[in-house]
Amino acid sequence: MQTLAEKIIAAMARAEDKQKANGKASKPHASQDKAPAKHATAMPKTEKVDATTASRDYIRAKAAELAGHQADSPEDGHEVFLGNGHWSYEGPTGPANWAKLNPEFSQCARGKRQSPIAIDSSTTLQGPAEALDLRYETVAGSVVHNGHTIQVDLAPGNFLTVRGTRYELAQFHFHHPAEEQINGKVHPMVAHLVHRSAEGALAVLAVPLTSGAANPVIHTVWTHMPLDKNDRVPLSGTGINPQGLLPSDMRYFQYMGSLTTPPCSEGVLWLVLKTPTTISQAQLTLFGQLFPSNVRPLQPTHDRPVREAL
Ligand SMILES: [Zn+2]
Repeated sequence: MQTLAEKIIAAMARAEDKQKANGKASKPHASQDKAPAKHATAMPKTEKVDATTASRDYIRAKAAELAGHQADSPEDGHEVFLGNGHWSYEGPTGPANWAKLNPEFSQCARGKRQSPIAIDSSTTLQGPAEALDLRYETVAGSVVHNGHTIQVDLAPGNFLTVRGTRYELAQFHFHHPAEEQINGKVHPMVAHLVHRSAEGALAVLAVPLTSGAANPVIHTVWTHMPLDKNDRVPLSGTGINPQGLLPSDMRYFQYMGSLTTPPCSEGVLWLVLKTPTTISQAQLTLFGQLFPSNVRPLQPTHDRPVREAL
């Protein structure tokens, strides 16, 4: 007699084979978190094969979970995926295990251009580089607690142009402490401003935040900060202008990396400002109480060039 797990595996395998017969690659389990879909499609062919194997392992683990017992070790030696893709910053679902949580997260372990990284001016390419062309204005938005950070989703209308591409600002969010290390220093916080081009390419502007004068943009965001996971609070009144998060000195480091959260998709253009913006100690403390450490550890650079715009 077939166990429940075997029945589920058999049914899912039949569905998978049918899909293959129709000429469609089996689709890995959809991520719960926002994934830049356009980037996923840019994955090299070899990755696709792995994703299919990964998907099978995921089905096996899921079936075992449904049947109420541990999955058997798959004979091909691939790791079994655990859970439903829920990830966190510590413990069994923490950064060291992200790639094991969902087949879509494989880049978190296999990627060679991952973020964040330690930037060291003694090894950067130094010389002239184009200034960042930022056109930010006041737009409507809402503040969401997504379980990993406080994020401000913005209405369209803010643009960054660099390297011949125009990117639109979609959202900004925070990490405590900062994820990037610059010349051995880690700032108390960082804001990541996530921009997307019409083709789906991502550019993230990292603005370090340090203790000093209070910041009015942070004041607006903290005023509308949701308390519960998945709560969303619309920005009342006149909206928000992200320009207020930027320092006057816009010199920056530039390198190619990844999202610092699952699925860790690569092909992300990172623009890391050298000069922090100040926020008050009280503003730092409030975020730190909600998120004591929402930071991915530093990733190997694998000899990636980092450009320093002087
Ligand atoms: Zn971030």
